[in-house]
Amino acid sequence: MKNKAICLLLLAAFLISTTGCSKTDESSAVQPMTEAAAATVAASTEVSTTEPMTEAPTESTTDPTTETTADSTEPTEELLPTETIPLAEGFSLSDVPEYRGSPYVEINGNTPFFTEYPSEIFELYSPLDDLGRCGAAYATVCEDLMPTEERGQIGMIKPSGWQTANYAGIIEDIYLYNRCHLIGYQLTGENDNERNLITGTRYMNVEGMEPFECKVANYVKSFHANVLYRVTPVFSGDDLVARGVLMEALSLDASAPELQFCVFCYNVQPNIEIDYATGESRALIDPEATAPTEPPTTELALIVPATEGSQDSIDRTMPTFSEDVTYILNAKSMKFHYPSCTSVADIAEYNRFEFKGSRDEAIEAGYQPCKRCNP
Ligand SMILES: [Zn+2]
Repeated sequence: MKNKAICLLLLAAFLISTTGCSKTDESSAVQPMTEAAAATVAASTEVSTTEPMTEAPTESTTDPTTETTADSTEPTEELLPTETIPLAEGFSLSDVPEYRGSPYVEINGNTPFFTEYPSEIFELYSPLDDLGRCGAAYATVCEDLMPTEERGQIGMIKPSGWQTANYAGIIEDIYLYNRCHLIGYQLTGENDNERNLITGTRYMNVEGMEPFECKVANYVKSFHANVLYRVTPVFSGDDLVARGVLMEALSLDASAPELQFCVFCYNVQPNIEIDYATGESRALIDPEATAPTEPPTTELALIVPATEGSQDSIDRTMPTFSEDVTYILNAKSMKFHYPSCTSVADIAEYNRFEFKGSRDEAIEAGYQPCKRCNP
């Protein structure tokens, strides 16, 4: 399965040789993607004769002993023309515990599996495999790639395993499946790209993925910093519907607070059984017999260790700022607090950032002081 997946992930990489996000012209960022997509279709249909196959994927298998860091100054041209989106090496579906009521679970100690830290602004989407399934989507999320227009229609895309399944009375938003963006529209503005859309449950889309997408979006907007971001749909065997997605994010700017996560979001829907091979589904409860639209049955105890774990990982590697005051930012309310503020416990993990810097710097980043703790 893995070898097959790697073969199928051959992709014409595109590179924009800009020096930074802020200097990227949006039109030039979008245009090469189209060319790359065209090139990839060609490459995948005539594999035996295409030249890209002969180009050695120089850095795709990085020696684990050579530690590369985000602020490495090694030549980065070598990193991306590899045509292959590096998979999360070391990750396996068998490492994922069974779904037990939390929409996501931390993987690998919440540390992404990235082995390369390209400084270029890029976005890559794997070509569909021979079953029509998406592979990993991988990008540098930065302010200038974010969309300024309303999202357009995507109803014409039929991702693998797509079914229209209506569960009025069981699912609040009625439909079981969403055309679920791997890299959320709000992050790169990639909308009706079939390589970026999978059959995902409403629950995975909204409860699982969206909070993490928002966290990345809030971070990029607040700190004007870039985030390396990869979302990989994880299929079992020849299933047409993914069991879930692996979401990895890592901040690239050493002068901004650290952001990192590595989570698996379950492609499940409470009270619905899904046949992942085909996308067919059935209700496990009778909508007439129960009160409608109950939230998923959650075992809260499972969520607590996840939150603590991610807090640990933030504490370990915070960059140092000129003034050593620690604030807690709420990216949803856009307030900042002293860590001791009673409001801090109420901030959802995905909206919470630890920030070391001066009061003025927090305000400059767009945050207002909390009225309760008066930082
Ligand atoms: Zn406060």
